[in-house]
Amino acid sequence: MISVQAHQKNKIEKIASQILLYKELYYLGRAAISDEAYDALEKELSNLDPSHPALSFVGYKVKDSTAKVAHRPPMLSLAKTYETSELVEFAAGRDIVLSDKVDGMALSIEYDFEGRLLRASTRGNGQLGEDVTSHVMHVVSLPKHLRSISQTKDIRFEVRGEMYFPIGEFSRFLERFDSYRNAVPGTFGRKEVDEAVDVLNVLKFRSYDVIAFRKSDSHHNDTLQAPSDLGRIIGKTYFEKLKCLETMGFDTGLPEGTTKLLQGEDVLSKLQDFALNAFKDDRDHQIDGLVLRLNDEELFDALGTTSHHPRGSIAFKQESEVAVTEILAIETSIGRSGKITFRAHIKPVQLSGAVISYATLHNAEFIRSGGYAPGALVKITRSGEVIPSIIGLEKASSTEYSFPQTCPCGFPLQISGPDLYCSQNISCAPKDQESFLYFAQTLEIVGLSEKTVTKLREANLLKSPADFFRLTVDDVLKLEGFALRSAENLIGSIQNKRKIPLSIFLAALGLKRGGIVKCREVASKFGTLESVMAATSDELSEERGWAGKSAVDFLESLEGRKSWVEELQNFVEVIPDTSRSERDLFADHPLAGKNLCITGSLSQPREVYVKKLERIGAKVASSVTSKTNFLVCNEESGSTKYTQAKKLGIPVLKENELNDLLSSAQ
Ligand SMILES: [Zn+2]
Repeated sequence: MISVQAHQKNKIEKIASQILLYKELYYLGRAAISDEAYDALEKELSNLDPSHPALSFVGYKVKDSTAKVAHRPPMLSLAKTYETSELVEFAAGRDIVLSDKVDGMALSIEYDFEGRLLRASTRGNGQLGEDVTSHVMHVVSLPKHLRSISQTKDIRFEVRGEMYFPIGEFSRFLERFDSYRNAVPGTFGRKEVDEAVDVLNVLKFRSYDVIAFRKSDSHHNDTLQAPSDLGRIIGKTYFEKLKCLETMGFDTGLPEGTTKLLQGEDVLSKLQDFALNAFKDDRDHQIDGLVLRLNDEELFDALGTTSHHPRGSIAFKQESEVAVTEILAIETSIGRSGKITFRAHIKPVQLSGAVISYATLHNAEFIRSGGYAPGALVKITRSGEVIPSIIGLEKASSTEYSFPQTCPCGFPLQISGPDLYCSQNISCAPKDQESFLYFAQTLEIVGLSEKTVTKLREANLLKSPADFFRLTVDDVLKLEGFALRSAENLIGSIQNKRKIPLSIFLAALGLKRGGIVKCREVASKFGTLESVMAATSDELSEERGWAGKSAVDFLESLEGRKSWVEELQNFVEVIPDTSRSERDLFADHPLAGKNLCITGSLSQPREVYVKKLERIGAKVASSVTSKTNFLVCNEESGSTKYTQAKKLGIPVLKENELNDLLSSAQ
């Protein structure tokens, strides 16, 4: 009996620590799982232990180093449901305001008694957020001064809403973010506001609440006004409140019709029309559900809140659709590093409002272990902006997939980890196309499309990257589609790249395991191109957390590019990187600046982890205090550290979870 209870307790703590970790990652702009998977975890925990503190913990722990802003009243999240029956119960014939739930980041914007923007802050943990005033000042669409409303000078306002990335603008910044939904939190998480100005400029803000405070004697204790007092200023209903926000200069979704008042109407039938409209692709924002809120503000206030959401509103979410279809063929293409990529050509199927005929298959190992082959029935899904992917096998094919043995260039393919590579390092023709394009893109040569690269190669003008520097305006003018001005611009942009920082130069070569982060490390360690060319794999892997194999891969492919490097040196000067400390490289890492403590036995010596953690700017302490962010521990124990961590509600990271997080810094 005891062991059943212990098992149960163990399970609860495991789920709770996962929830805390995912919340933290989400707010750091690194969402690790889908909304549904996350909601399922919360639901599981609330079934097991409805009063668990992890449930009422809204956001991440506020970092010590930044200014904090207390939220009064707290910024709560919304109760959610996937069931339409719960919506009917919620509405119960009352007046409801229905709106789309913009997928962005919740912010509070405070204005002073003159109506000027005073301060902005993130939701944080709901009680305390981080000051992001210097960020929002760059958001062009956000009112810096409230438009005239008939107000007395002793009232000030706080406006709450979602900051989001207009979809149309996002395409310009694809290179910068790993996903749409991480883009806004990622931008606000950056300390260097200057480097994010171009993104901040285009962001938009959808407001959904306004709170009024009356001036009191003590400056910091302005009195929160009851809605009845403010009837004259803001309005007695939620709908009037939104109208008021509009007059102040905020977007509320009203003119677009994405926010609507339902007066005792049949919620379900309206919801149907509304959802069809709201989920359409022509919106400039992603939505992650619909929100229903009572229109009667007095009733809303009277219902009050639970510890983490108001009772007067509810969010409705849709589960992502899963479709079953047949794989017709598996198609391959070759990337610049010589890696083969796979995609499945599938029997066209309707999914989340679009007809899908291709889905990603990740890599060779994914295909082999999943048993995917033409003729197989598979489950596919498309969540948010993610391209459709295959998530499981429904029925195996009668035949196995036979992997290609040779590259289109004629050389045999070889296995490396989960991937297949062309064994010809130097003159693989299909690879060259990708390599030249990658070289130009990494150098940020403007006006050079994939088509232009193809045309240059067809005209025999591009046999190695150095040929870019040999091109003349006349050469380019001979290509179809170029006029004098565009040809001059292209050549100008190429000739601008005569001085290249070492890390960019190395990255542009498209070396195996040679992404920009790795190349920056190499550049900072070796300083000059000559020293990198002379490096051994031992020197390279030393202290840098490179597995021996990746150092060997890197140097081998650099050796394969030797002729390119030598030829390029006739045209360009490779200059040292501007000094950039390694810590800066990992400033965005989820564990950067965090305090960790390690206890119990691990599969590797503790020093290994201490070194890795310190490299990315985390601190490892020998005891657990209220400042500790995570305890690393494989199993429950009676140790002081473990007991202390439990008492303080500090999340526990298992060794494998820690390794997952560290692997992103490799
Ligand atoms: Zn090849």
